Amino acid sequence: MKQSQLFAKARREAPADEVSKNAQLLIRAGYVHKEMAGVYSYLPLGKRVLEKIERIVREEMDAIGGQEIRMATLHPSEPWKQTGAWDKVDVVFKINSRTEKEYTIGQSEEEIVTPIAQEYVNSYRDLPLAVYQIGQKYRDELRAKSGIMRGREFTMKDMYSFHETQEDFDRFYEGAKQAYLRVYRRVGLVAKATEASGGSFTNKLSYEFMVLTDAGEDDILYCSECPYCVNVEISDQKEGDACTRCGKGTLSRAKASEVGNIFDLGTKYPTDFSFTYKDRAGKDQKPIMGCFGIGITRLMGVVVETFADDKGIVWPEGVAPFAAHLVSLGKPSDDVSKLASGFYTELLEKGIEVLYDDRDLRPGEKFAESDLLGIPKRIVVGKDATGSGVFELVDRKTGTVEKIERDELIARFARHG
Ligand code: ATP
Ligand code: MG
Repeated sequence: MKQSQLFAKARREAPADEVSKNAQLLIRAGYVHKEMAGVYSYLPLGKRVLEKIERIVREEMDAIGGQEIRMATLHPSEPWKQTGAWDKVDVVFKINSRTEKEYTIGQSEEEIVTPIAQEYVNSYRDLPLAVYQIGQKYRDELRAKSGIMRGREFTMKDMYSFHETQEDFDRFYEGAKQAYLRVYRRVGLVAKATEASGGSFTNKLSYEFMVLTDAGEDDILYCSECPYCVNVEISDQKEGDACTRCGKGTLSRAKASEVGNIFDLGTKYPTDFSFTYKDRAGKDQKPIMGCFGIGITRLMGVVVETFADDKGIVWPEGVAPFAAHLVSLGKPSDDVSKLASGFYTELLEKGIEVLYDDRDLRPGEKFAESDLLGIPKRIVVGKDATGSGVFELVDRKTGTVEKIERDELIARFARHG
């Protein structure tokens, strides 16, 4: 993509009404546009980052047998009344239509997915079943001061699974936990799986996946030696205590952001909807249900918070909007510009995702903007490149500069995809 054609331009000033680092940087760099507190639109660069995260999540959910669907966002109020959530869950938006019918917009989808599964699962042969979607969620959150990390509208991957036995549920649950840890690693983050109490309706155990960041809204205790980690809110342990899991480490306290969670819902929803299937003996049974969420837009915010430096955003390769930022220092139609344009075409032909800064601006301005955008590698085409065919490759994270010959540069990007 040519930067001259990118309509969402980067700006020098941070918006005055944003306190969070992620939203300040993403707005300045033209990734997102703020509509109101907790509601953002995603512009071309932001959309590309979301798609990268979504692709990783999709691949990992497909790999554990999830089937992707797209559920309705506008919901009738009846199933929400049937499960009790209409009155008990404070973040549920309630909409009155002019026909006096009440609706809600999805803040989670158990009320929609359970009746769908009920229609197709009649026998044990139809189990297990895992369906998921990646879509918008709406919550009447009280505080929305963490930028895209806590939205009133946000993107979530939510998966729901149905099982014949607790053993089968446990097998799937463990597989999902591992898939989640892979998702976070591929996004570029390290997440800890904390043990927490279950959701609003069950007292079963759940896992919350936490990334350490000062921008997070949770407080956790974690072991210095083993993966043990627990939410402070529910724990009677404190900082400095010996780890009860490994006995070797001590617990440290830190701020963290919850980037996903997985719950054993038991038979709560099948009970509410009188959902049974015929087991192997021909008897009616309720399936055991699980739900598995990942905050897609929150993940994007956490990535920004984790890696940004004083110059701007720094994307890990796995989620960057482009692999390379090609910056031409030429003037319109001089030799440098021609060389850069030819190289741009060649990168595109090789399938390399590249943003091409073809604008007629001062080098300092271009570099500052390139740093703000945070694309992992910058290729600079200056005067000396016209004679030597050697380009400068700058690593956004470390600032390391390498002089690399054109073909070698292409080969390197082609290898990284
Ligand atoms: P939190 O405790 O942060 O409010 P939650 O327990 O309400 O999260 P779930 O309802 O299970 O979260 O949603 C699944 C995932 O969606 C969360 O782990 C989080 O990553 C993300 N998420 C939840 N609420 C929001 C929000 N308001 N904005 C952005 N992402 C969110
Ligand atoms: Mg919440």
